Order: sequence, then C-alpha cells, then structure tokens
Amino acid sequence: MISNFHTHTYRCLHAFGTDEDYTAEAIKQHIKELGFSDHAPFPDRDFGYRMQYNELEEYIKAIEQSKEKHKEEILIYKGLEIEYIPIYENYYRELLEEKGLDYLALGEHIYMGSDGKLKNIFYAKSTENYKEYALSVCEAIETGLFRYVAHPDVMFANYLKWDSNCEKAVSLIVECAEKNDAILEYNANGIRKGIEIFPDGSRYPYPHKYFWEAVKDKGIRVIIGSDCHAPEQINDKFVKAAENSAAKMGLNVIESIF
Ligand SMILES: [Zn+2]
Ligand SMILES: [Zn+2]
Repeated sequence: MISNFHTHTYRCLHAFGTDEDYTAEAIKQHIKELGFSDHAPFPDRDFGYRMQYNELEEYIKAIEQSKEKHKEEILIYKGLEIEYIPIYENYYRELLEEKGLDYLALGEHIYMGSDGKLKNIFYAKSTENYKEYALSVCEAIETGLFRYVAHPDVMFANYLKWDSNCEKAVSLIVECAEKNDAILEYNANGIRKGIEIFPDGSRYPYPHKYFWEAVKDKGIRVIIGSDCHAPEQINDKFVKAAENSAAKMGLNVIESIF
C-alpha cells in the first residue's frame, strides 16, 4: 500500500501506539502518504472510546511535529474520523478552517435517525435502520465536508437477514456518492475481524460484496483504508487482502484522497 488515510492512535482508548509509532511503521512499509484519523471528540458530548475534547490540541500538535520531523521521508496529514450529526455543522467547519485539519473522514457509527434520535449503527434493530442510516450518510456526503466515507457498508456487521431494505440502503449511498463524486473507503478492518456466519452467508462483517459490486458498476473512486488500531496493522496481510479483492473486483481504486 502506498498511502493510508485511516489511522488511529492510543488516544481513542481502543488503539495502541503514538503518532511517531505509526509514522515509523509507515516509513518502514514505504508508505508515501499517511493520514491520521483518530476518533473525533465532540465539544459537549462523549460517545465513548475516543479522545477527549481537551486532547484535541495536543493531537493536532503531535501530528504537526511528526509531519515536520519526517518531511523528507513521508507526507503526513492531520485528520479525524467523525460522525455527521447535523447540529455540529459549525464544529466541522471549525475543525477544518480554524483548527487547520487537512480532512475529515466520515465514520458514521452514531447517526441521527429519521425520528431525530441518535442511534448506533452497530446495534441496528432491523434493516429499517439501514435505510435511515443511508439517508444520514447521504446527507453528510452532500455537505461536502468529508473527504471520504469510511466503511460505507459497516451496517452489514449486524446479524440481520438480507432484504429489500439492505438493497435500498446500498442504492441510496451508491447513487449519492456517484452524484457527488464522493470517495468511498474499502476498509481492511472489516477483513481483520474475520469471516463470520451471517444470515446471508459466511462473510466478513464488511466490506460486503453486494455493496461493492454496485460501487464498481458506477465507477466511483475507492480508497483502501487500513483502519489500523496498532502500528503493525498499517500494511498488514488484511490490507493486502483488501487490495487484492478490490483489484479483483475491478474497483476504481485511487492512491490518494488529495
Ligand atoms: Zn470507524
Ligand atoms: Zn476507524
């Protein structure tokens, strides 16, 4: 892999390693562009398992230091993986414009349901939730605030039976991505989780083949993301498996989000 824009650090409390640890491993792996995208805090809300808001300045500064220190060897970008919740629109702009982040990756784990309630996609009660999830991802894409959509098919990590809602959710996201020329991420962390038995067969929680077949048909740009939670995962065998299967499927894989 020549670049990775999905990198966590110890700050999110479920990953290991500092920015310097990931940078060292990236250089060792001959990665040319490295983007940090740790789980973003919100100023007035704690969704758990992410950096605290009062750590944000230090996070940004630490990446800037790594960027400067290794500028001859690697290009480093400051980013965050963050949920789109409409009331935070000003916060996203502040992160990009005032805090100087290079990008936001849409990591829609928590989303605003059609009933106005915040929900966690990993606890979807029925495939009806997939549709409202897809609508919230589309709304996010349309803001133009997010450089790419992380694991856009993450809802299929739920053990729910495949039905027409699943198909509808896929077409909503894929059509919206096509219309807005968005970049979708083929996420290696889903592969890292291993094959499980779902009602629609034995497969990885994500990437889901059905979703990516639809992406391929539209020629949408795809970035491979390691979604590493430990330095040694940055370019591990699961990233290679992701690269191989994306290539085999004929996806339009790009090397950089910039
Ligand atoms: Zn994520
Ligand atoms: Zn992630």
